[in-house]
Amino acid sequence: MTIIECEECESKMINHDYSSQNACDTCKCENIQIIHLESAPPTKLKGFITVRYKRSYPKIYEISELDRILAEKAEGKEKTKKLGFSES
Ligand SMILES: [Zn+2]
Repeated sequence: MTIIECEECESKMINHDYSSQNACDTCKCENIQIIHLESAPPTKLKGFITVRYKRSYPKIYEISELDRILAEKAEGKEKTKKLGFSES
């Protein structure tokens, strides 16, 4: 799955969650907008996602379900590490 993360409000959006039903969704601070485009025949694709942003460029990364769980656990550790680094 692909994660689209807003650096400003830290909203994480997963591309799989988007379809024609909720096209043009935005993150909490409305920096990032996900736009779902229907593909035109004869392509077999259902459609595709495009990302727009107003202020900050979104972080986009590809992860598996397992990576997502690991990343969430590691996030706390990473913050402590950054704090230590700024002090030195
Ligand atoms: Zn945002």
